[in-house]
Amino acid sequence: MDFSSLGLNKNLVAAVSSLGYREPTPIQAEAIPAILNQQDIMAGAQTGTGKTAAFALPILHQLSESLSPSTLQEESYRPVRALVLTPTRELAQQVHSSFVGYGQNTSLQINIAYGGVSLNPQIKELRQGTDVLVATPGRLLDLMFKGVVKLDQLQVLVFDEADRMLDMGFSDEINRILKQVPAARQTLLFSATFDQAIFDLSKHLLKSPKLIEVDSRNTAAEQVEQIVYAVDADRKRELISHLIGAKNWHQVLIFTRTKQGADALAREMCKDGIKTQSIHGDKSQGARERALEEFKQGKTRALVATDVAARGLDIEQLKFVINYELPYIAEDYIHRIGRTGRAGASGLAISLLSSDENWLLEEIEAILDARLPQQWLPGYEPDLTKEAPVSRKNTRTAQKRRTKDRAFGKKPSNRRR
Ligand code: AMP
Repeated sequence: MDFSSLGLNKNLVAAVSSLGYREPTPIQAEAIPAILNQQDIMAGAQTGTGKTAAFALPILHQLSESLSPSTLQEESYRPVRALVLTPTRELAQQVHSSFVGYGQNTSLQINIAYGGVSLNPQIKELRQGTDVLVATPGRLLDLMFKGVVKLDQLQVLVFDEADRMLDMGFSDEINRILKQVPAARQTLLFSATFDQAIFDLSKHLLKSPKLIEVDSRNTAAEQVEQIVYAVDADRKRELISHLIGAKNWHQVLIFTRTKQGADALAREMCKDGIKTQSIHGDKSQGARERALEEFKQGKTRALVATDVAARGLDIEQLKFVINYELPYIAEDYIHRIGRTGRAGASGLAISLLSSDENWLLEEIEAILDARLPQQWLPGYEPDLTKEAPVSRKNTRTAQKRRTKDRAFGKKPSNRRR
């Protein structure tokens, strides 16, 4: 199957081919014709599956087909016709730059708005008119409040990483935005995970949506080799520096649970001679962008990130992800390892497991529905004379699985592991 058989116009087909895309990914093959057919979508897809093009291409197609030459000649203001809401600035930037790439042969105006930076340049851009706006909810509301953005002509509304938007507490903002958008619109909801909150949100938003689940949450794992090293907590940093040094790895993304942990680890790794930076929510937008750019360019060898800061990072050919600590939210494990093994490339995800984290591993194994056997790295074997904490029973995950099954209209499964 190629992109032209999906019903996209030749400008868009030429753009994706210039980006080196040879054929649509499964989510693109399913979502693009449905969106072109004006259907609402509820898609279970994580970053790395090609989900951005799955919604961006049909949106660009629809908007450019309805751009008449007279509209183009009119220098007057063009209202927002497609809005993509994202939870984080990084994801907003990523989605915006994908739109710009896919829309390179169109005359559509594609804009971005996110917080943490001055409002004025964004206002200036937006005042010139915009067809597609990619925005984080808080900044969008600021701009709406100032009368810079009006959504009364909106045709398509996209929620990207809706689960993370709710996790980050954006429900109020979302409700306020929804009051300003026309009821007659197309709505596309993308979420890596489904729980009751997403299900509730979707009921208000979507009209007879097409449900798409190209991959279950665990498929990122299929292209990604996953290794779990059992190691004492106080030797984790040493083990990471050893691996990176001995194997001569470059571009290693490391996850910690806390901002302080990210800073401390980056500092210690620098002392080990590995050029490392950290990104998290306390760093200014500029600092985060610089750190990311230097990492992308290979100027820094490792980047330590918290889960929120890492959402939406798309770094070409990222091969290595290390979980310095396992996440408290099991689904974050899938987001983390989804940073590697993207669009078919292979990757390696290493998790460092201290004895107090066994219950977190159990939760991850439950949502993956697979065992992740633990190994010892010679020289870093855990000290078994230390007492291991008791593991916790996993009822939350089973409940989430049942909710997700319901969301996709399946009979709730009672699988036990
Ligand atoms: P996404 O899931 O949208 O974040 O996309 C993940 C990565 O896959 C990005 O680097 C895209 O440029 C790339 N990508 C998306 N669609 C395709 C495709 N059909 N063929 C090859 N690469 C793709």
